[in-house]
Amino acid sequence: MVKNFVLKGDVLFCSEDRKVHTVPDSFVVCADGKCEGVFTELPEKYKGFPLEDHSGKLIIPGMTDLHVHAPQYTYRGLGMDMELLDWLNENAFPEEAHYEDKEYADKAYSIFTEDLKKSFTTRACIFATLHREATEILMDKLEETGLVTYVGKVNMDRNGSPALSEKDAETAAADTRQWLQYIKGRYQRTMPILTPRFIPSCSDELMKELGVIAEEQGLRVQSHLSENPSEIAWVKELVPASKNYGDAYALFNTLGDEEHPAVMAHCVYTDGEELELLKKHHTYIAHCPDSNLNIASGIAPVRKFLDEGVNIGLGSDVAGGASLSLVQAMVHSIQVSKMYWRHVDQDVKPLQFGDAFYMATLGGGSYFGKTGSFLPGYEFDALVIDDSGLRSMRKLTIQERAERMIYLSGECSIKSKYVSGQKII
Ligand SMILES: [Zn+2]
Repeated sequence: MVKNFVLKGDVLFCSEDRKVHTVPDSFVVCADGKCEGVFTELPEKYKGFPLEDHSGKLIIPGMTDLHVHAPQYTYRGLGMDMELLDWLNENAFPEEAHYEDKEYADKAYSIFTEDLKKSFTTRACIFATLHREATEILMDKLEETGLVTYVGKVNMDRNGSPALSEKDAETAAADTRQWLQYIKGRYQRTMPILTPRFIPSCSDELMKELGVIAEEQGLRVQSHLSENPSEIAWVKELVPASKNYGDAYALFNTLGDEEHPAVMAHCVYTDGEELELLKKHHTYIAHCPDSNLNIASGIAPVRKFLDEGVNIGLGSDVAGGASLSLVQAMVHSIQVSKMYWRHVDQDVKPLQFGDAFYMATLGGGSYFGKTGSFLPGYEFDALVIDDSGLRSMRKLTIQERAERMIYLSGECSIKSKYVSGQKII
């Protein structure tokens, strides 16, 4: 299918230098699924393309959720009164154990994928559970949505629960290879990613095997890093040879490289040598402020990460985070950065709208290649947003309208959504 068309409306996007560009009443051109650019006058050569007129509405690039747990979606908003390790044992593990049952997985993953399709998210890095068949059900459903995703069958062979643990490293690795074999060539938009839950969940033998599989099959890795002080102390006990938590992944060759970067959620306490290590491996940080607030993990020093040029985007981290909404994640990222400035370090200035917009669009989007902008050559991922419900006495710029939209998204609606030029809403 040739995906050639033009959208007309009030356009807002970021460039690679994190600058926000606004172009009122303009034309965004899609040719064969790629963006040709934004024009105030439609060039002659595109005049034959079908035009969708969204005059008066906002047109922004699609957003990337770098970290979300699909099986935790149906209990989001519950159990927000504990810290990470208790929260996992009391909430996450008992729920995830249900995905042994394919019928349960089918129903629950229908709810997740239907809601994800309706959200601001166009691309995502997703954790499933350790269950191979349920993970395949999730991937089938995601493929149908038109979204582009990385999905991981979770690996965990220690410190789980009797109902939620892989038998041993050998069984876990064999099951992972079987999963990869089964899905090979099955999807166009749904890609596998190796997913050790986090170091405390995976024995050294399993981590070693995952490093080998990553290398053999050219796969990426997603996991969690430096989220909570008790967790960090535990990792030091479990992998005494590691210089820091990040190094525990590097020792097992699971931190990737420029071509196959890993995505690590949280990095609340990442600094010094660990930060240098992430830069060396081109690792992406998934900043998940809603989750960091809910399970009292702390505040990630995002301004420092941006200034240091580390790859970074936003994650909802449902169900540590309560909502799939990446515009809410934008708001939380700005709010927690103000608390960091106020309570931790007054030399680190708070994030502004442009920083958060960059992370939600191009920052996280670059994990998927040229994604998250309307610069020429980028994948045509776009959202058309009706903000007409936000009435005002002021004459607002496009950026001011977008700023209100993220804080008051409940009063706005997504009118259309495109992924690689395919209209999915
Ligand atoms: Zn997580």
